[in-house]
Amino acid sequence: MKKILLSIVLILTVVSSYAQKKPIIGVSSTETENSAGAPLTYINSIKRAGGVPLVIPTTNDKDEIARILEIVDGIVMTGGEDIDPLKWFGEEPVRPMGTIVPKRDEFDILLIRMAVEKGLPVLGICRGEQAMNVAFGGSLYQDIPSQVKGTFVKHSQSAPRNYGTHTIEIEKGSKLRKILNIETAAVNSYHHQAVKDVAKGFKVTALSKDGVVEAIEKEGKQFVVGVQFHPEGFVSMGDDTFLPLFEALVKEAAKN
Ligand code: MN
Repeated sequence: MKKILLSIVLILTVVSSYAQKKPIIGVSSTETENSAGAPLTYINSIKRAGGVPLVIPTTNDKDEIARILEIVDGIVMTGGEDIDPLKWFGEEPVRPMGTIVPKRDEFDILLIRMAVEKGLPVLGICRGEQAMNVAFGGSLYQDIPSQVKGTFVKHSQSAPRNYGTHTIEIEKGSKLRKILNIETAAVNSYHHQAVKDVAKGFKVTALSKDGVVEAIEKEGKQFVVGVQFHPEGFVSMGDDTFLPLFEALVKEAAKN
């Protein structure tokens, strides 16, 4: 009897120690001349949501990415430069296109594809959302002002990063709606590109008032969610409006 009790206590201890382990969230990085890093806003948001952030240096080596994916429990894809339209969705670049970083394009797209394939939860933010769409066959508006008919909203705001300047309407029944539990929100906006044709197996889950895609997600159970705005701009400054988004990622990651 004593032995049985002892083994039950042992099992419970092991189970609870696993349950308490904070999930590791890999963060896609930007390479500069002499460093590989990610803004602290992302790092601190993951920490606030109960995850352990781990910045992943840019690489195009599939084996290296596969090894990293054995360690991390979830992924945050960060914002950044414009994605090469010619290479990734077969369009000639229009003149307002910004900087292209080929190595980062390849890294982001490999990382997302491999993470999703492995069943890991992925949160894509801004460029990260766009890379998510392109990784699964979608396309982008290379430049909203010159390409989106009827656009009137300022998507490149001149306001603090934790200040929402334009409205989004969140689709009923979407993961995003369930997670945030709000129909509309005022979001920050720092983009001149946006999702055009949504990737197969994904759906649009939020729009701005001028019809620009502000969020997408993969259909089905897996947490593969992309947002065009910057929730980390709010969360890292102590505004909890979008904290549930990071918490949902961490919760899904904890299952791995
Ligand atoms: Mn916007």
